[in-house]
Amino acid sequence: MFFRRKQSQATPASSTVASPLAPVTNGSAAPAAATTFASTMMDDYPLTVQYILQRATQYFPKRELVTVTAEGYERSTYGELGQRVTRLAAALARLGISKGDRVATLGWNTTRHYECYFAIPSMNAVLHTLNLRLPADQLSFIISDAQDKIIVADADLVPLLEKVKDSLGSVQYIIVMNGPVPTVGAGMPPLLDYEQVIADAPTSFAWPAINERDACAMCYTSGTTGNPKGVVYSHRSTFLHAISVTQADTLGISGHDTAMPIVPMFHVNAWGLPHAAGMVGTKIVFPGKFMDPARVAQVLADEQVTLTAGVPTIWIGLVQVLNQRPDLDLSRLTRVVCGGSAAPRALIEGLDKLGLNLVHAWGMTEMSPIGTVANIKAGLDDATPEEKLRYRSKQGYAVPLVDIRIMDLETGQTAPWDGVTFGEIQVRGPWIAASYYHDPNPADKFIDGWFRTGDVATIDPEGYVEIVDRTKDVIKSGGEWISSVQLEGILMGHPQVLEAAVIGLPHPKWQERPVAAIMPKPGAEGALTPEILTAFLQDKGVAKWWLPDRYVIGMAIPKTSVGKFDKKVLRAQLAQEITLGE
Ligand code: ADP
Repeated sequence: MFFRRKQSQATPASSTVASPLAPVTNGSAAPAAATTFASTMMDDYPLTVQYILQRATQYFPKRELVTVTAEGYERSTYGELGQRVTRLAAALARLGISKGDRVATLGWNTTRHYECYFAIPSMNAVLHTLNLRLPADQLSFIISDAQDKIIVADADLVPLLEKVKDSLGSVQYIIVMNGPVPTVGAGMPPLLDYEQVIADAPTSFAWPAINERDACAMCYTSGTTGNPKGVVYSHRSTFLHAISVTQADTLGISGHDTAMPIVPMFHVNAWGLPHAAGMVGTKIVFPGKFMDPARVAQVLADEQVTLTAGVPTIWIGLVQVLNQRPDLDLSRLTRVVCGGSAAPRALIEGLDKLGLNLVHAWGMTEMSPIGTVANIKAGLDDATPEEKLRYRSKQGYAVPLVDIRIMDLETGQTAPWDGVTFGEIQVRGPWIAASYYHDPNPADKFIDGWFRTGDVATIDPEGYVEIVDRTKDVIKSGGEWISSVQLEGILMGHPQVLEAAVIGLPHPKWQERPVAAIMPKPGAEGALTPEILTAFLQDKGVAKWWLPDRYVIGMAIPKTSVGKFDKKVLRAQLAQEITLGE
């Protein structure tokens, strides 16, 4: 079974170690009745992924784990997972993996990937999830920077590794899962078959003692400016985050749920859902690589999913599908968690009409990721439906243990929570990064214990955060700020607009002016004009000086590796075509 020890074992046993609770004696003899609480306090039990694994297998062995495949569904249980995880850890140890070694994964959302989520941290190695949509130069950088020793990769993704084979110097093996081992050219590390590796491994493993502050997992930011930056999660941060998302007033993930993470397992640990699920025994449905809205809708119905999570583009597609498929029964789906980009109000309303509840959340790689969730706060139950919709459209209020503030963009001073003043969000808390791997404090990202998120927001008197932009995307026109996110949200409320992305382009007089790229809904091509869109924005009360100077209608909006609008690419594309102020 699992090895349990007290954190205090890591501390030298000497009685001379100072305790913050020991009374100061100034060198004289301690008073006879001096109270030192050190030996009378709570058990210093380590908070580790190993514990979550033990709990998942001990209490919920029959709970199902399902992976969507080309043929249908592949089914197993937490009980089977426990046995396979033990063998996988034993096999990795035989292959030379020990404490602190990085073992990377390059995979779709599958049960085998979930096995890696437990085996690697529980043997005190570090799970490094690689983003399969990154360009080759970034993938190379990340693998070299992390010095991954083994990569566990899906069979159909091995070609991605061949493209970066010159950067695999630290990699001793590639273990191939979810398909037969492919034939590769010269210069690649040896390839092993995942199932064979597990079959050949011992059925037991001496799990090491883990300190909760040991590294557990790592993930790189997408590197929209410069190289990606590594964020290292500890066992403690992962554990506390997992508990957090099981709280009723956050995402409320329960053992009675059937959860489907559409958010990729390489995108900030699938937002913490997998570890939370193991803690409470949630049935998980992994979509594999089948993330198109039609298939997602079918799986949600087939498996009677109760909670799902993904970026807005997925849900925009889902609404389209569900409007065509009233036959699908999604009556058990109570939470559609949406994060990664702002959920347009029209999307929330579209899901409401289908009887589905969008739960808006905000966070980032450096925050494990959850920082705020837009549930209706205690005390606001009597708000009108319109007020509630307004709160739900914001990014929400901070979850317990996350501390948040906004800093005025001009003065750098704390900005008021008046719902109007823009400020950069800064956060701190037990699952917020305190530095980057190999790059402790780039451009002063960490100040006085706070992490500068680079997101600009307002906070209202109730504490609800509304993201206005990223600092690099907010549009500065004539000395005033324009929120590209708010313009996008309104434009996507037009019944014929599928997607809208707004960027600022240089303007000789105003410094920057907004330009909107618009993708109409299928069938609405040709129906939209700049005049129609301007009239729509004015009708919604948008100030005249916020109105976009140009619209580019009918263009495919570029997306990032995790499905968000790629404004850096869009800005570069449009800057080539458009010169403002002429
Ligand atoms: P990447 O940098 O690759 O996009 P992250 O997932 O870490 O990776 O992105 C975090 C950023 O995504 C946040 O800083 C914020 O700008 C944006 N974001 C996340 N959730 C929301 C949301 N609900 N509304 C608006 N923006 C969001």
